[in-house]
Amino acid sequence: MLYGVFSDVHSNLEALERVLAFFEESRVEAYICCGDLVGYGPDPDACLERIRGLKSLSAICGNHDLAAIGRMDLAWFNPYARQAALWTGRRLSAASREYLEGLSARLEAPEFTLAHGTPRRPAEEYMLSGAQFKESFPLVRVWPLFIGHSHMPLCFRQGGDGAVESMILEEGRTVDLRSSSGHAVRAALNPGSVGQPRDQDCRASCALYDSEKATFRLVRLDYDIPAVQAKILAAGLPEFLAVRLSSGR
Ligand code: ZN
Repeated sequence: MLYGVFSDVHSNLEALERVLAFFEESRVEAYICCGDLVGYGPDPDACLERIRGLKSLSAICGNHDLAAIGRMDLAWFNPYARQAALWTGRRLSAASREYLEGLSARLEAPEFTLAHGTPRRPAEEYMLSGAQFKESFPLVRVWPLFIGHSHMPLCFRQGGDGAVESMILEEGRTVDLRSSSGHAVRAALNPGSVGQPRDQDCRASCALYDSEKATFRLVRLDYDIPAVQAKILAAGLPEFLAVRLSSGR
């Protein structure tokens, strides 16, 4: 099965449309979304409508989704994120709110597991080290594990010898999820962020997961950043949230 994997859309409709068009061109058969569908950006309802309409979608919620529906303490958030969460919460339609309320923060599917941050604390903790990856072993039954939250395209992989590799994934990088002997390895994979990348590459980030070939390929896509920046400013959201989109930070 070929999956389109994406995360951290953050209400950025232009970036989402570009990624979904790429997935369609690539003839993906199903979709994986690792949370933070809303927050920061100017189009929460339109993004949720688009995501809700995807066939064969496995999705979880992130901390910003929980904040938007009043299920996460905003004390966790910096002032920009807090302001955007309150703004988003006021604008969500009843259908959008209901959809977010129905998402869990972790999901085990037949071919993979999803957790926004880490399996231990999906809405809070960032997986940024091989040590944290190892700590997740007892909590994951079905590999690979797909994550989001850090807005960084990352791979943690345990090789056949048991050693853990940590990789920042550049555009076009394909990770093999089998050992040299052909066995599936444990791996945690972050496709980066669709709507607010933070690895100093401002292009939308996503990935293709081929469960038969056991490969994960990172993809970067240009989209109309000035259009989103203009919408953020027109909505009265913090200017910083517009500025950071051009620098990918
Ligand atoms: Zn996020």
